[in-house]
Amino acid sequence: MRPHYVVAEKMLGATKNPKFYDSDIALQKVAKQMGRSDKFEAPKVSVYFGKSDVEVKDPFFNGEGPNRVGCNFCGQCMTGCPNNAKNSLDKNYLYLAQKKGAKIIAEKLVTSVKENNEGDSNLSYTIEFKDSTSYFNKSLGSVKTKGVIFSGGVLGTVRLLLDMKAKKFLPRLSDEVGNHIRTNNENLSLITTKDKDLDLSKGIAIGSIFSPDEDGHVEAVRYGVGSNFWKILIIPMVFGKNVFIRFFQLLKELILHPTVWIGNYFRKDYAKRTVILLFMQHLDSTIKLKRGWFNLSSKLSLGVKPTPFIPMAKTLADKVAKEINGNAFMMSTDILLGSPSTAHILGGAVIGKDKEHGVIDKNQKVFGYQNMYICDGSAMSSNPGVNPSLTITAMTERAMSFIPKK
Ligand code: SF4
Repeated sequence: MRPHYVVAEKMLGATKNPKFYDSDIALQKVAKQMGRSDKFEAPKVSVYFGKSDVEVKDPFFNGEGPNRVGCNFCGQCMTGCPNNAKNSLDKNYLYLAQKKGAKIIAEKLVTSVKENNEGDSNLSYTIEFKDSTSYFNKSLGSVKTKGVIFSGGVLGTVRLLLDMKAKKFLPRLSDEVGNHIRTNNENLSLITTKDKDLDLSKGIAIGSIFSPDEDGHVEAVRYGVGSNFWKILIIPMVFGKNVFIRFFQLLKELILHPTVWIGNYFRKDYAKRTVILLFMQHLDSTIKLKRGWFNLSSKLSLGVKPTPFIPMAKTLADKVAKEINGNAFMMSTDILLGSPSTAHILGGAVIGKDKEHGVIDKNQKVFGYQNMYICDGSAMSSNPGVNPSLTITAMTERAMSFIPKK
């Protein structure tokens, strides 16, 4: 994989974050308190760190790519960089592909992939799609193609593959579709400071990473000023074996600290006052996704059931809260339902030695079909315990390296 990671980093313009802001500094102090300063670092991110707000000719592909503007650390990376500094795919892979003649049909949802002329040497597939952004005028369309690469992410690719198997449009797909789904064993805690002088939204979306023990990593994450939507989804962080204990603890919080909790929902500067701690572990467990009546449903397959109540995540949240004079919150669904949220769902169409063990072979070609590949997080057969986008890119680079150039 090593050479493909090198190419992936080049394509994504991966660069170490050069500046820490308030959220990162708080995490750095916690790392020091825990005696693990050497495990705190700036992550590599896909951002152009030239002179802030200054536009330059493409600095990544010898001028072949689009112009870029130096990052100004506004923290809006996750809602879409308004400054042309983040190296999203429309600035590298898609941009270059389009320049070389690829046609991109955007804002469509693929509804079916069908094999034409089974057994015919003149193999082709028909892909049908509809508008994905319009509720009322869902115009339909289709393309005929000699090859298909699924890159819809787990909830796009696996859902579609399960559908195609059930409808017998792709009947030879492995029975392993939907199996071996992994999360990154995550916990999201949101710490809101009472200190008006701190600006926790300043910096890049993920400005620092720290490993507090052998199994986990935590990142200081932020949204830009004005991105306050999270506040309606959260409630105070409480841990407890069952929902009744947690409910009782929430009631206690409400009685003892009503302004802390309720006040949060009225906060106009919520993003500015809040750091999100994204805690991830590479401890393994798998779930299975199945088609349900209305949506996908999940069931535990192997290992311990993923939980949002990870003791180390609470330790970190408490320490950061103390550091920034704040209060820790969690997603209400995590606490009330006990079902963890994940930002990094992976697997479901994984690599295997044969059709009985996986959906794709080691070169990511779908078992049973020609010129059909899966190149996204659903191909990953393990839990990396950190953000997986670089690994997905490197795996895709490797898979594509086996396809002969024209
Ligand atoms: S912090 Fe993120 S959103 Fe803001 S300019 Fe830099 S890359 Fe863009």
